[in-house]
Amino acid sequence: MRYYSTNKQVPLSTLRDAVLKGLADDGGLYMPEHIPQFGNSFFSTLRKKTLQEMSLEVAAAFFGGDVAAAPLRGIVYDALNFSIPLTKVTGRLYSLELFHGPTMAFKDVGARFLARLMQYLARNEQSGINVLVATSGDTGSAVANGFLGMAGVAVTVLYPKGLVSKIQESQFTTLGQNVRALEVEGTFDDCQRLVKQAFLDKELNARRKLTSANSINLARFIPQAFYYFWGWAQMPPGSEVVVCVPSGNFGNLSAGLLAQRMGLPIKHFVAANNANDIFLKYLQTAEFSPRSSIATIASAMDVGNPSNFARIMDLYGNDYAKAAAAISGYSYSDAQIRTIVKRVFGGTQYLLDPHGACAYEALREYLENDKNAQGFFLETAHPAKFKETMDEILDDGIAVPGKLQAFMRGAKQSIGISNRYEDFKAFLLQ
Ligand SMILES: *Cc1c(COP(=O)(O)O)cnc(C)c1O
Repeated sequence: MRYYSTNKQVPLSTLRDAVLKGLADDGGLYMPEHIPQFGNSFFSTLRKKTLQEMSLEVAAAFFGGDVAAAPLRGIVYDALNFSIPLTKVTGRLYSLELFHGPTMAFKDVGARFLARLMQYLARNEQSGINVLVATSGDTGSAVANGFLGMAGVAVTVLYPKGLVSKIQESQFTTLGQNVRALEVEGTFDDCQRLVKQAFLDKELNARRKLTSANSINLARFIPQAFYYFWGWAQMPPGSEVVVCVPSGNFGNLSAGLLAQRMGLPIKHFVAANNANDIFLKYLQTAEFSPRSSIATIASAMDVGNPSNFARIMDLYGNDYAKAAAAISGYSYSDAQIRTIVKRVFGGTQYLLDPHGACAYEALREYLENDKNAQGFFLETAHPAKFKETMDEILDDGIAVPGKLQAFMRGAKQSIGISNRYEDFKAFLLQ
């Protein structure tokens, strides 16, 4: 399989180049040259398969020509070594719990897959690779932990100072080994801009083998499609399935759209936003107007210029009407998010995190107008990752799972840096 850039200004790439580059030289995002199709026989047996089995089939359809069967199986089975339960919350609403991995957020899936595939693709590389990753909280921990201890790989995590939760910060600042954390004076958008600029800097790239682990990377994007198949297969047989995705950079939603394009019978997608409603505005007005992000309590969705918008547009041939017909949007303020968490917990005992709360509510609102459908939303993080916020919302506060407590015990090691590109470049070259 070869991969093209959404900007279409560069030739097709091999898997290796696309994954190690992350972003194409023309600033576009890589997309598969063709999207594999699954037919009825695949879907009629899907319910009998395990998560790992069906993921391997999807992975093989993309990567089978480039990665031999045994290593590919190892990559998939090792990346997905935790469960992804579908839990009924109430009525026609289900939660696909993507937070049972090592850092307790859905990004473990893509990041663990990427780390293993990248190590495989770079196995003959002499000088080692530098992974750069900008994070609004959960990416940094998933990527850092995904690569932790891997020989020949150095990871640099950029995060906005004071804008990620304490637990999130501990998950990438206490690791040591091959992981460094840069605490940037600025927002997530600044972090993302620094990383993008580094990839487009020819001089820097001549001297350092840089690669990206952000959701723009093809090797995070494609594995995120796996669990849409899994979620669909766990729903009551015969149901018309609507899926709602709490969205920031829109990598997760794009992967769902990709799964649908492969034949997965998802009836409709709903994109849930917090106050950063750039995508919702696009659906309402046909104008895509990126702006600075606003800090909210669903901080992993605080994105003002969602990168994967390019992939969504590409999937719909840059046709606004088609995209707007396939996806609905909703947005919620912090006050609304608090109310949703409280109300759902009070009514069902199901505890949503602030991101999942946006998705739950958007799905609930959407299903009001589609009485035949059922739906699942992606519960993208364990609520305890946002302990400060959850403690404010809940009368009793929230217990922190042992897995997260273990991170909190380490000592924070981070390096402060401005949001100026020259400073970041100097750091990378030292
Ligand atoms: C990253 C993240 C999101 C947003 O996912 P995108 O793929 O960037 O749209 C939502 N919820 C949580 C908890 C996250 O960490």
